[in-house]
Amino acid sequence: MRPFTFQRAKSEGEAVQAGAVQEAAFLAGGTSLVDLMKLEVLQPAHVVDVSRLALSRIENVRDGLRIGALATNAAVAEHEEVKRRFPVLSEALLSGASPQLRNVATVGGNLLQRTRCAYFRDLATACNKRAPGSGCAALSGWTRMHAVLGTSDRCIAAHPSDMCVALAALEAVVRVRGPQGERDIPIGSFHLLPGDHPEREFALEPGELITSVFVPATPAAARSRYVKVRDRASYAFALASCAAGLELRAGSIAAARVALGGVATKPWRAVEAERALLGQLPTRSTFQRAAETALVGARPQGDNAFKVELAKRTMVRALSLAAEVA
Ligand code: SF4
Repeated sequence: MRPFTFQRAKSEGEAVQAGAVQEAAFLAGGTSLVDLMKLEVLQPAHVVDVSRLALSRIENVRDGLRIGALATNAAVAEHEEVKRRFPVLSEALLSGASPQLRNVATVGGNLLQRTRCAYFRDLATACNKRAPGSGCAALSGWTRMHAVLGTSDRCIAAHPSDMCVALAALEAVVRVRGPQGERDIPIGSFHLLPGDHPEREFALEPGELITSVFVPATPAAARSRYVKVRDRASYAFALASCAAGLELRAGSIAAARVALGGVATKPWRAVEAERALLGQLPTRSTFQRAAETALVGARPQGDNAFKVELAKRTMVRALSLAAEVA
């Protein structure tokens, strides 16, 4: 492992200042950063420990919930308000990782999770995300876990997070603090598509620290479910997942929020599917039509062609469960 300097930040201001230096990285739960440092995929020169900052509160605020960036995945998943008003978020968190990891992994860290593309983690292979301009070994390699939506000819890596898929459907807003002050980033703009620059994954400026996430409370958020399909029942990344929320009025769909995971290069808000659901009856055929719409732009690559149909079925299942919420 490359030698690095270590600093424990005593305040947000100190963290931001320390994080703004070149090749700095923030350390919170460490479940992702430390792994990737051991593999030498990430080699920060300066590690800024932010884990002692007072950023773990989960509080009711006007029109929603504000979740501190250092709240653990377990604390959020088990929070009574989250389970009652945002069940999709609790279910998504509980479907991810293991209990041990959820006890230390933080919301901020989950937002910044890196891809599980095997080539990204293997220094012996070409990877534009790890080493810009080196190529993409996945394009001619094993692609069963890779994305079919939002890909480019530089990178087809799937986004790994479950929590972020739920947050995309919930239209969460990420609050960050940086050298220029505080700003809010809608979750839909927080993660970047790979395009020509797969190495750029987040809409963050140097030194910007995630401090909290706001989740708006809506009728669709309260009637929401998460469905994840994977190779084994626990501790596995999604082959396909779907976060779905519905607002029903007089038996018809008045609002729909749908996002896909496991099949896209970022948490994938299915806006066209949401439009297709509006004003319709919450029936299986309605959900099937919406799912077809969501996958129109899919571009399978070798081994992952099965994901197109799997994503559609996962979406139909999630919408059906959301419609059944009492
Ligand atoms: Fe790297 Fe992306 Fe290609 Fe995987 S898919 S090898 S992360 S460039």
